[in-house]
Amino acid sequence: MATQPAQPMQIPKTKKAFIRRFTPDRFQRTRHTVQGLFLVVNAWLGLQFYLWARYFERGGFGPSVARPAGVEGWLPIAGLMNTKYLLLTGRVPQIHPAAMFLFIGFMLMSLLLKKAFCSWLCPVGTFSEFLWKLGRRIFGRNLRVPRWFDIGLRSLKYVLLGLFVAVIGAMSAAALEDFMATPYGLVADVKMLNFFRDIGITAAVVIGLLMLLSMLVQNFWCRYLCPYGALMGLASLLSPVKIRRDQDACIDCGKCAKACPAGLAVDKLVQIRSVECTACMECVAVCSTQDALQFALPPHRASAPAERWRRRALRPLVVCGVIAYIFFGLVLFARATNHWQTILPQSVYMQLVPRANQLTHPGM
Ligand code: SF4
Ligand code: SF4
Repeated sequence: MATQPAQPMQIPKTKKAFIRRFTPDRFQRTRHTVQGLFLVVNAWLGLQFYLWARYFERGGFGPSVARPAGVEGWLPIAGLMNTKYLLLTGRVPQIHPAAMFLFIGFMLMSLLLKKAFCSWLCPVGTFSEFLWKLGRRIFGRNLRVPRWFDIGLRSLKYVLLGLFVAVIGAMSAAALEDFMATPYGLVADVKMLNFFRDIGITAAVVIGLLMLLSMLVQNFWCRYLCPYGALMGLASLLSPVKIRRDQDACIDCGKCAKACPAGLAVDKLVQIRSVECTACMECVAVCSTQDALQFALPPHRASAPAERWRRRALRPLVVCGVIAYIFFGLVLFARATNHWQTILPQSVYMQLVPRANQLTHPGM
């Protein structure tokens, strides 16, 4: 009698139970509030700095305001140079020290909280986010760049970063100090202000093009061209806090991956190590399943998801608190130790600020 071949046993896929999250998302509201506050701070610094520069441009007429050292946050290259100077000499640089403290602060944030600086504080990141959201409203959606092209474009920011690191890496402590003390180095911040005030046709066209591309492609500038973001992305690889998915709680709906502006496969991975993750929490905001997705430290060993993430998942106010602690901690430390301000005689600024546009890079 012929025997029937054994049929492979079909194991039915068990549908995971959907447990709706107990509390609504508060990350987005908190993050947008922080972004708004930081924009206001930057606008205030910009206005103060403009009035300060105008005073010298008018030969000492008009309202005299103190130079706001915080504008040096817009000088990340000076921050990198000064950090190297500090590491080589153990001395705090005298020119643009605030650039260094802010640079160190933003790097510390990346080491602890992924690239939270980009999506919580950076005004350019905030403006980029506004643009892609505006673009999505106008055009109905944003474009996804084909993967092969996206990888090529993403490498551009590392090329730019590599150039800066190579040049600064080759400089000795004395060369760094000499560079900062050149007329160009002393008023690098004024040159930055003048770039935006006296914007030429070419720069305006390039910025206009970048804005248009940022409306079409999410975070175009940050994703492809920002060397500062590239450096923070590398530092963020060490961050113990990451977006982490609980495979047991997750119902594989895929909403998180669709919402991710960085195009990461959040719904497939158990943790997001990627240098592109900006801790924007868009994925966490759309996930409606309890304990499925969190910005968290590594989980406890426990059988129940709630136990695994107990005291591991960060709440919005904790993220805010860490950012504020690092930021204000460093600013207050620098102020208390008299290392916040660049201290130069008024006569030097009186001489250099009015002719900042004529000052060229010492290497040119
Ligand atoms: S959506 Fe989530 S995974 Fe994507 S960048 Fe934002 S925090 Fe990172
Ligand atoms: S949004 Fe993502 S993490 Fe949340 S349940 Fe859906 S697939 Fe899982």
